[in-house]
Amino acid sequence: MEKVQATFVIIGGGIAGVSCAEGLSFLAPEESIILITASSLIKAVTNVVPLGRTLMHFDVEEQNAVVLSKKHKMIRIIQDTVVKIDTVQKLVEVSSGNVISFKMLCLCTGAKPKLIAENNNFVIGIRDTESVLQFSQKLKNARRVIIIGNGGIATELVHEVKGVEIIWVIKDKHISATFVDPGAAEFFLDKISSKSNVSENFSKDPPSKRMRYVVTDGVPVKNGAALGPDWHNSFDISGTHFAPSNVQVEYECEILKLFNSDEQKEFDFVEEWPVYAQLTNGKIIGCDLIVSATGVIPSCDICGLEDLERGEDSGLLVDWKLETSKKDIYAAGDVCTVGWPKVKHWFQMRLWTQAHQMGRYAAKSIVSNFKCEEFLQDFCFELFTHVTKFFSYKVVLLGLFNGQTLENNYEILLRVTKNQEYVKIILQDGKMQGAVLIGETNLEEMCENLILNQLDLSIYGEDLLNPDIDIEDYFD
Ligand SMILES: Cc1cc2nc3c(=O)[nH]c(=O)nc-3n(C[C@H](O)[C@H](O)[C@H](O)COP(=O)(O)OP(=O)(O)OC[C@H]3O[C@@H](n4cnc5c(N)ncnc54)[C@H](O)[C@@H]3O)c2cc1C
Repeated sequence: MEKVQATFVIIGGGIAGVSCAEGLSFLAPEESIILITASSLIKAVTNVVPLGRTLMHFDVEEQNAVVLSKKHKMIRIIQDTVVKIDTVQKLVEVSSGNVISFKMLCLCTGAKPKLIAENNNFVIGIRDTESVLQFSQKLKNARRVIIIGNGGIATELVHEVKGVEIIWVIKDKHISATFVDPGAAEFFLDKISSKSNVSENFSKDPPSKRMRYVVTDGVPVKNGAALGPDWHNSFDISGTHFAPSNVQVEYECEILKLFNSDEQKEFDFVEEWPVYAQLTNGKIIGCDLIVSATGVIPSCDICGLEDLERGEDSGLLVDWKLETSKKDIYAAGDVCTVGWPKVKHWFQMRLWTQAHQMGRYAAKSIVSNFKCEEFLQDFCFELFTHVTKFFSYKVVLLGLFNGQTLENNYEILLRVTKNQEYVKIILQDGKMQGAVLIGETNLEEMCENLILNQLDLSIYGEDLLNPDIDIEDYFD
């Protein structure tokens, strides 16, 4: 048994852990840093492109852990699984029996998929490279796959999986509800049926719809979600049985019960399937595989962490410094639940952007605490920002992009150009509260500024989205 010491210990080689380790090595290069990770590959943020004050686009690269320690000499990587943490004696025990002592610890252990059924060979959750490989393998011989969930992973899978019949089971009235409203869902639906390349479809037509409508309580509303981005590009996620465009959406339902082929004998099915799913809408659907993409559970079940306070989603509760309820124990990324009073336009969502921001911020917080320096909260927690791709479109989400917390009392400005862009601006009392920007809109910086500075935009009215007016000129 080896006993190792370090000033700072980080557990987890995902985006949060690596960002934290890099931050620590930059801010306190004289101190020893150990990153413990269960996998040999770590995730690094590369090619950062700032798109505004807090908004940024970046790539997530899987790298061999050795690359990180070569780049940052003070970072030592231990590839092992942490089995026990003594938060009082400040000791971490790994599965090989080695013990690492620390002065300050940052937990970045991520989250795991919430599965609709545990220990069922036909139910799979997508989380990491291993699970995607497993999925890709099973898909080869599949004829039909059920995808459950309506967040980012389900949306990407429906778009990326080819050559197999897909039944998409969602509990909402429209697709991709974690991120977009029914209007944007309608905009994407075209892609489900065509599954063709966006660039081929670009239309030169002017915006087909430019609307302004009000959302208030009682008034019907018109047209009223741990791999890297583009993770699917590295894997062959195609079956061999069907033409690419076979997607059927089952709206407003969930899976009630699963049957195997023996249990279903009472039903008279034309075709035999390895597994059957009974939906809450009464349908029983046979398939080869079920992908459970219904959210995640923070991974904080390591022995010794039982006394740490939890948030309502069972993540490790952290204060504004990202410190847990135990002194000198910090948490960042998917594993934590934010416990500080949040500002109006920011909320927690388990995404790369926030894992990266929290990892870097945790490093600053840890070092200033260690050096007893003054510390202020980071600007990135002022505004929710997310840049992603759905159905090959660039998607930028800003602030209260779905009118969250505005209690159905807001105005929407909408500009839609079929197959090209979908722009939705949320206004309350004439001030911008959020935005959904799909396609190459070039509006992200302006929208970010207008949400942050809360300028009264009443005088601009619908001109705010008039494509013939260069609205940015107004604000220069
Ligand atoms: C399929 C998929 C697609 C996604 N798509 C998007 C997207 O398009 N955009 C987006 O923003 N977000 C997306 N996400 C979410 C995003 O991946 C996560 O929010 C982010 O990766 C969280 O980073 P993290 O560092 O907190 O955790 P993780 O990346 O999960 O890293 C956790 C690390 O902890 C290690 N670990 C865990 N337990 C132990 C232990 N006991 N001992 C040692 N090491 C341990 C693991 O090996 C891993 O290295 C997606 C997630 C998935 C699964």
